[in-house]
Amino acid sequence: MKYIILLGDGMADYPLTELGGRTPLEAAKKPNIDALASSGFGGRLETIPEGMGAGSDVANLSILGYDPARYYTGRGPLEAASIGVKLSADEVAFRCNFITEKDGMIDDYSAGHITSSETEPLIKSLNESFDLGRFYSGVSYRNLFVTDTGAELTTTPPHDVLDGRVSEHLIKPSDDSDAARLNKMILDSKEILENHPVNRRRAAEGRNPANMIWLWGQGRAPSIKPFHRRYGIKGAVISAVDLIKGIGIYAGMEIVEVPNATGLIDTNWEGKAEAALKAFETVDLVYVHVEAIDEAAHAGDLRLKIHAIEEFDRRLIGPLLDGIDFHCKIAVLPDHFTPIALKTHTADPVPFIVSTLGGEGASSEGEGIKSYSEKEVTADSSLGIRPGHKFMELFLENSAT
Ligand SMILES: [Zn+2]
Repeated sequence: MKYIILLGDGMADYPLTELGGRTPLEAAKKPNIDALASSGFGGRLETIPEGMGAGSDVANLSILGYDPARYYTGRGPLEAASIGVKLSADEVAFRCNFITEKDGMIDDYSAGHITSSETEPLIKSLNESFDLGRFYSGVSYRNLFVTDTGAELTTTPPHDVLDGRVSEHLIKPSDDSDAARLNKMILDSKEILENHPVNRRRAAEGRNPANMIWLWGQGRAPSIKPFHRRYGIKGAVISAVDLIKGIGIYAGMEIVEVPNATGLIDTNWEGKAEAALKAFETVDLVYVHVEAIDEAAHAGDLRLKIHAIEEFDRRLIGPLLDGIDFHCKIAVLPDHFTPIALKTHTADPVPFIVSTLGGEGASSEGEGIKSYSEKEVTADSSLGIRPGHKFMELFLENSAT
């Protein structure tokens, strides 16, 4: 038996008046996902433990079988792993966004999705200008800062305070000396970045400049028991996002790189399907993560969110299902809700479906789910409601479904 998890980041949503009371999942044309739902079984997962932030890192860690309350130490260390930065015991890794600051406000959490080739010289300038720690290049606006203090400070994800005042959302407590040093560096970064040729060019072209850094999601390296030791099978992760790859690395999973996987609507959808099928030559479980849907939801772009769900179905899941001629269990789910109306994540329990394809034991008739949506897949569905980190056991159980 092989296993595949198809994760549409932030796919779940609330009913919208613009859609006549439907959600984006209900409005999207997604025949492949709906076919899996109607031959399968559903339930809800609590991927965000009570009291924790509704981050993709927490939620994906949970779905991979690791209780975030026990294993999560912050987003920074996960992203450090993904770019090959190994943290020593006394080091703290912060996620470092490039943002666009305008009139004292956080205008864009991604600096117009600045490219990695543009951020490299910016990272170099930051390292030449500051000595509190070291900056490392990641992917696009998602970069890294490593220092030796600050693990306990309170930081704020910039996408949660979009259009908020910079001065109100800096690192807290503001009277802490480490926080004060880091906040000074954040504010001082503006002068260095704004005058950098990269940003002068961006501004001239009418694109958002990466004119400030934003530090958040910090922590020390987590200690995670490898996936194959925990579950007795090998797994692989396919994702364009650093932190998802980082979870895979700490879990000892294979990280499959897909050319031109961008995390956006222009991602290499077919390439991910191809890579997943190829990965089964060496592993038993493939975790395919798609970021584009969440990015559309953060932008509050309803049409783009629906389009991203449709592309996920047509260009990734379609070819993948065509290529599966072996006994395979498939799950489709988001990691968390990202309601268009809120432009940020929520901790609502996510709808998941599990179906089995090919060979003996393939589900032909499921429990009667008509299509994959928030209304059809509920806590009353046959697999009930359960903590996110209990999903993997259920999914890998041979008798289930
Ligand atoms: Zn997410």
